[in-house]
Amino acid sequence: MRYHELLDEPQRRSPVPRILLAVLATGLVALALARTFRPAAKETAPEAPQPPRPDLFTPVREAPETFKRDARMPAAREIEVSGEIDLDTFSAGRDLVYVDDPRVWWESDHDAKDNDTEDDHTMHAAMEIPFRRLVNLAAAARPDLHLRVQECFRPAGIHAKRSLHCEGRALDLTFGRDGERLPQREMHAAYEALAKLCWQAGFDWVYYEHARGTGPHIHVSVRRDAPRLSPPPNGQPAPWMLPEVPETPEPPPANVHP
Ligand SMILES: [Zn+2]
Repeated sequence: MRYHELLDEPQRRSPVPRILLAVLATGLVALALARTFRPAAKETAPEAPQPPRPDLFTPVREAPETFKRDARMPAAREIEVSGEIDLDTFSAGRDLVYVDDPRVWWESDHDAKDNDTEDDHTMHAAMEIPFRRLVNLAAAARPDLHLRVQECFRPAGIHAKRSLHCEGRALDLTFGRDGERLPQREMHAAYEALAKLCWQAGFDWVYYEHARGTGPHIHVSVRRDAPRLSPPPNGQPAPWMLPEVPETPEPPPANVHP
């Protein structure tokens, strides 16, 4: 064996124990760090979970092929689907919300001359999600028409005693234009389209009502345990409830002469 080979021998062997030592030391440091940080992680309060925002732009059901006058979806009676009125468990203060949207025509905003004191903006909180979805679906499908709320909460009078309107769980809707009802020749096709949109928006019961006394309209209702918006927006739609408006391009710069 030559001299330099004698010298190299111990140097070639030494890296193995050194690597082992390094691995061991790293492991010990990692263990110590994990122990140090574990109690700190426990002390951090978890962030309050944000309630999920419902999708107010996508239909929740397929559009039925037809929705003719006097038809109801589902075909069962309203109380079997939306549940009977129960004024003992209903609390106006807890269950009613004020809903507004500038895209909607509200009958009670235009009936001062009738001395009618009801307020069509007042509805059961369980109505709000399908209603706000309907406003978006209707605006997208029929931008030429106005969704009209003819009737919502009315604690007494006009409706049958057991009507869900007395609990704010029913809405009467039509389509109109320029603040007016549609002319007869357009009405039936438009109302059929509206009934389909109501079904797609997620109301529990939809009825294309063609009563002689009230005139044709779409009556919709919901179960009292249907999901509510949390927290309630209390009036105007929050920005996330409105469709995204495409950005208007910057106006071209004025003709400036150098
Ligand atoms: Zn009704």
